[in-house]
This record gives sequence, structure tokens and C-alpha cells, in this order.
Amino acid sequence: MRSFSNRLTAATATLSLAGVLALAGCSGSGDESPSTSPSGSAAEASGSAGAEPNSEASGTPTPSEAPKDVKPAAAPKAPTEPLDSKVQTEVWEDNAQVSHLFFHSLIVDADTAFKDRESGKGYADYMVTVDEFNKMLKQIYKKGYVLVSPRSLGQVDKSGKFVTNELKVPRGKKPLVLSIDDVSYYEYMKGDGFATNLKVTDDGVKNTYTDPKTKKTSVGDYDVMPIVDEFVKKHPDFAPYGNKGVIALTGYNGVLGYRTSPSVYGPKSDDPNKNIKQDTATATTVANALKDDGWEFASHSWGHINFTKSSPERIKQDTQRWKKDVQPIVGPTNLLIYPFGADISGLPPYSGAKYNYLKHAGFDFYFNVDGSTPAWGQLGDGYLREARFNVDGISLKAALDGREAMKSFFDPKSVLDPKRPKSISGTS
Ligand SMILES: [Zn+2]
Repeated sequence: MRSFSNRLTAATATLSLAGVLALAGCSGSGDESPSTSPSGSAAEASGSAGAEPNSEASGTPTPSEAPKDVKPAAAPKAPTEPLDSKVQTEVWEDNAQVSHLFFHSLIVDADTAFKDRESGKGYADYMVTVDEFNKMLKQIYKKGYVLVSPRSLGQVDKSGKFVTNELKVPRGKKPLVLSIDDVSYYEYMKGDGFATNLKVTDDGVKNTYTDPKTKKTSVGDYDVMPIVDEFVKKHPDFAPYGNKGVIALTGYNGVLGYRTSPSVYGPKSDDPNKNIKQDTATATTVANALKDDGWEFASHSWGHINFTKSSPERIKQDTQRWKKDVQPIVGPTNLLIYPFGADISGLPPYSGAKYNYLKHAGFDFYFNVDGSTPAWGQLGDGYLREARFNVDGISLKAALDGREAMKSFFDPKSVLDPKRPKSISGTS
């Protein structure tokens, strides 16, 4: 086992400057913004919760509502070598240097979603289309990436120390973590050309999608999860460990397309969901089926909060709310994906009240955003922190304007949907 603490790479040196430059133009970021998450934090900033100025869900629970911390369960082990023992392998040299791509839910009807750019919902900035995703996926696979769970990279031992695993990758291949943020099919997205939920079918987990023009509803592969599932059926060597990706969930609009949060949709709420019990049972069935298919779940906070700006107390209340509303459906998790990419620290290793609380709440893996480098990681004493590369209109535009990092995964020009606005990101 190698033990590198606080391993920073050469790539990091370029981060600080890029970060400052990007953040300078990001109205969403305060001066506390960490330098580890440059353009990406801006990307997440409005995109994930839909570029709504009030993308953070309101409503902090009063102390009396806040549940007691749920003691984190033992983290599930993830494989460190291919399930097929006949595959020739080699050991990955640095577990703090594993690329991580993230997406939001995919645009199915580009005409409708991009038409809406005037409304400020930011779909062109923060989302990619199904066609774009299909093209990217093929190229990512051809470049030799294989899907891996972040949990395959290491775990916290009994003494609380994060210990890396010896990760065996198929010879000549490169490990890649995939994550998808905000798989809630938020209320604001309705009618805008996206799927509306995930559901279990005889053929696996699929999406429900209603065509905004014809109003016809169909069930099929309209978002990252079912598309990757189908891709792996054709190319099993793309997921040699059986793991596919991480689904990052908030709680304020429910999960997976079901309006399940008791505090928002319960009988005493302003907008009760009469089917909340059934919907919660259905969402749980979907979550279990996704887990069986190699998907894992992360917290993306309950209210899509900014961890950089939030007080330790706010973080605590929000985390407790996630554990109350979301954890019963998807199970406990030790993965935390920061909304807006807004980290609790810049380059220095974690310490202090926020980290102590999050660690106490059971998080061992922390993910911010950085679209300027193909991989960045920091191995702390008790955690692994990784940067995720945002794949969206903003990063596509940056790549076409000359930023190189995206080319490690696919050729940006070749994947562009002809329906995408000429500005690509939609903002200019
Ligand atoms: Zn988000």
C-alpha cells in the first residue's frame, strides 16, 4: 500500500490561476470560493438546480424537526479487480489520479430545451443532449477508459485512516469514475424536453418520457443510466468491475422523479402528494434495481446548498434532512458530491468544523468540480477528495475555444448536436 498524504499534482499548480480567473466571472461564488474548483463550480452553480437564482431550496428545518444523526453503516466494499478473472491486469499507479466525468440529466428534445434558453434555465450551459452523450460514450470507450467505483480506490480503515487499494485495471486501460447530478427530474424541468422519471421494467431500469409536442408518453433510454446500461450490455468490458456510476441526489423535489420528501410533499405540507407512500415505495424499488445494475448513490445535499458559504450548523441541518428524506430510499452513503462544486476548503487539506461534522456524518469521499484538468485528487488522512470534470455546454465551449483537457475523453467538435445554439454554451 502506498501512503501519500495530501498528494497534489503538477496539474494543481495550474488550477489556482484558472480557478481565480473563472471564479472572477462567476456571480455565484463568494470570496470564500475554493481555488480547487474553477470553471466547474460556475458550471454546477446554476446548472444543477436549473440556473434558478434561488436554486438552493429554502426551508431550513427547525431544530425540533431535525432528526438525530443516523450512524453511518459500514461502507460497502467495491471490487479492486475485474470480475472476469481471465482478464490480464496491471496495477493503476496512482489512485489520487483517476479521471471523473459528470453529467446532468440529458436533453431528449433539443428543440424544446434550447428554445427555452431565453428563460434563463441554462440547459445549453449545463446539459448535453442524448445524441451528444451517445457520441461521447463511444469515444470514451474507444480511448480505453473503464468504469470504476470511487470505492474501489480505497477506504477508511478501523483507525480512521484512508487507505488506498491496489487497483487492478485491465491491461492498457484507464479507470474512469462517472457521476450524474441531480437525478430528480426537478419540477422546473417539466415540459422542457427531459425524461420525467426512472422506472423498473422487464428490460431493466428505463425512463418515462413525454414528448412535449405530441404529448405522447413512452418508456425507454432517455437518460445516462439506461443508456449506459445498454452500452455495457454491448460492451461488457467497459464495466469490468460491475460498477457503472454514481447518482448524486438532493431531496427537496424528491428523488428519481418521485415527489417523496415528507417535509415538502407530506400531508401537512402546502403541496401534498397524495401518492407519497406509493411513490416512496416505487422510488425505493427503482433505487434497489439501479444498485443491482451497478449504480451507487451519493449525497448532493438535501437543498442543493453551497458548502463553501454555508455555516457548519446549516450543513448539519441539511445533512440530517438528507438522511431523513433520501437515505431511507437509497441507503447510507459515504460519498458527498458538492452542489456548485463548492468545496469546504481550497487546496489545503480538510480540517475544521465543517469537515469534522461531515466526517462524523459518515462521508469518506468528497467531490468538487474542475474542468481544466483530466484528473485531480487529494488523499487526506481520513478521506479521498477528487475533482470531477463537468461535461456540459460550458466545457464544450471552452474546449472549442482551445482548452485541452476534454480531448483526453473525446473530440469536442465531433460530438456537438447540430441543434445546439451557435454559442454552444448558450450564454454568449
Ligand atoms: Zn447539482
